[in-house]
Amino acid sequence: MEIFDCHIHIMSEETLQLTEEWKKHRSRVGLPEMELYHIDKTSGMWLDELDSNGISNAVFLAFHPNNEACLKFINHSDRFIGFTAIDPTEPDAAERLERDFKAGFKGVKFYPVSRKFHVDDEKASGVYEICRKYKAPVMMHFGISLGLKTDMRYGNPIDLHSVAKEFADLNFIIPHFGAGMMRECLFLSYHCDNVYFDSSGSNSWMRYLPYSLTLRQVFRKFIDVAGIDHLLFGTDSSFFPRGYRRDILDSQAHILRKLAIPKRDQERFFSGNIRRLFRL
Ligand SMILES: [Zn+2]
Repeated sequence: MEIFDCHIHIMSEETLQLTEEWKKHRSRVGLPEMELYHIDKTSGMWLDELDSNGISNAVFLAFHPNNEACLKFINHSDRFIGFTAIDPTEPDAAERLERDFKAGFKGVKFYPVSRKFHVDDEKASGVYEICRKYKAPVMMHFGISLGLKTDMRYGNPIDLHSVAKEFADLNFIIPHFGAGMMRECLFLSYHCDNVYFDSSGSNSWMRYLPYSLTLRQVFRKFIDVAGIDHLLFGTDSSFFPRGYRRDILDSQAHILRKLAIPKRDQERFFSGNIRRLFRL
């Protein structure tokens, strides 16, 4: 079965500053050791990881717009699909985003929780217009976040409702099943057909809910409510030496088998849906 990972981060010497503050934060939240390399070496290592884990393609996420190193990275292989990142409320955001789409990025990620903006801010409309022009999907992180400077006031997926209605021809992706905002995501799926959910990461947000929940139950609920057509596979792989998070792929494949999801639907989850979003 083809595996297309919709969520991997580009972390290299050029794209990430490993400050003392970050190192402390990483160890506090229990993240494993991380080594950063030159972008050329990093892109080669990721291509090897895709090969050795049987991954056909992957979406690679940048942290900032107009980043030369990330552009170099995504040009390394046509199996890499690049997403730039932007604060859509910044005055020059639309122009900067268009520059990235012209350069080859195929989508954009928003970090409202760590960059402190609401995705329904009127100032963001220029950015949505550019996404519409380039038929580019928009990924938005809501819920709890690993980021160093987070503000949960910006973490509610309900902010997306009016945007998804207004830009009904755009596709939106909420990672990690909403990272704790599961109820809000399921509500959104009732109202909007253009909102997708990715399964990436350890989904450790389940630990912070006031009731017990397993990832298997999360899958069951999202499949029943949002539909398998609205779910995208991802791992949230990001750095070395950890490399590709094969354990996440294996455990999610196991869950789908246990839920007796038909093979055709599993194929949609693992590659078909994301291919449809990119018209591949
Ligand atoms: Zn991520």
